[in-house]
Amino acid sequence: MTEQELHRYAVEVRQRAYAPYSRYAVGAVVETEDGTLFAGCNVENAAYPQCMCAERVAIFKAVSEGHRRIRRLLLVTEDGGTPCGGCRSVMAEFGSPEMDVIIATPEKIVKRYRLGDLLLDGFEFRRDAS
Ligand SMILES: [Zn+2]
Repeated sequence: MTEQELHRYAVEVRQRAYAPYSRYAVGAVVETEDGTLFAGCNVENAAYPQCMCAERVAIFKAVSEGHRRIRRLLLVTEDGGTPCGGCRSVMAEFGSPEMDVIIATPEKIVKRYRLGDLLLDGFEFRRDAS
């Protein structure tokens, strides 16, 4: 799938964000190593700690469907925001330091990173867990 197609998919899923508190809608699409795609949006809750980021929704969907390796993630926010620290750690669990992390607004792609550049010296425990 091309980057533009990933972008369109993430823009579409962002429209399903449940963000009545922050009003900050986020959409994410992850591509697993075999090319399967999983999309997620942020889901907020009146009890704020129970909110879930779009990136983790997409990654957890992939893992729950039997996928363990993620090679690319595209994130869409209104202003080109980057993933929070928690999501960076979750990405590191299932992606390599070379994993592509693509940041976009609804209109266009604005930044490209390697995960290793977003999470320097990240926590690694049981790296070979399966
Ligand atoms: Zn996050």
